[in-house]
Amino acid sequence: EFVNLNEFFGYVLDRFDMMIKRDQEHDNNASPRGTGKLPTDDPNKKYSITRDFTKRDLWVEIDTDKFMQVVDNIMNNAIKYSPDGGVITCRLLETHRHVILSISDQGLGIPRKDLGKIFDRFYRVDKARSRKQGGTGLGLAISKEVIEAHNGRVWVDSQEGKGSTFYISLPYEPIDSDGGDWDEI
Ligand code: ATP
Ligand code: MG
Repeated sequence: EFVNLNEFFGYVLDRFDMMIKRDQEHDNNASPRGTGKLPTDDPNKKYSITRDFTKRDLWVEIDTDKFMQVVDNIMNNAIKYSPDGGVITCRLLETHRHVILSISDQGLGIPRKDLGKIFDRFYRVDKARSRKQGGTGLGLAISKEVIEAHNGRVWVDSQEGKGSTFYISLPYEPIDSDGGDWDEI
């Protein structure tokens, strides 16, 4: 299915923004939370999402259901491992023949020795720290499979104590707006 990645990524993030808003409304009404489905050890944790997207329409062919799971996984991790008040920054940009989505958090980061392993099935950094966070350690392994099935790549940049950035790149052919052969009937 061909989608405009700009719209698609925006739509996925809109859903997260809606969950944040709903949680805030619950707080304001002093009623118990629990409708929010956000994965966090601390239900009172606050965080926000900012976007920095190219203005261009980026049409790519993806399996939207699977790709939505990928973005959800990485967003859920960013939230789960964010500190209170953390900002999650989502970017979308175009490079030569690729589009890149990135998701940055201000969380605890990933130790250098673990960077190569977090995409392995069931691998979780520091069992003790991640046990209370919940999860199976499958999210990133599945995400990587889906991205590679789209001929894309996924990688991470991280600094312990500062945060992590996950990158997804997909091959991209800019559409020639002159339309070539298609205009005349
Ligand atoms: P699941 O996604 O299956 O519920 P999980 O989140 O533990 O469980 P993955 O999403 O595969 O599993 O992530 C693997 C491990 O990588 C995590 O347990 C965590 O230790 C580390 N990790 C992933 N994302 C981040 C992040 N944004 N900041 C810090 N550590 C992270
Ligand atoms: Mg996960």
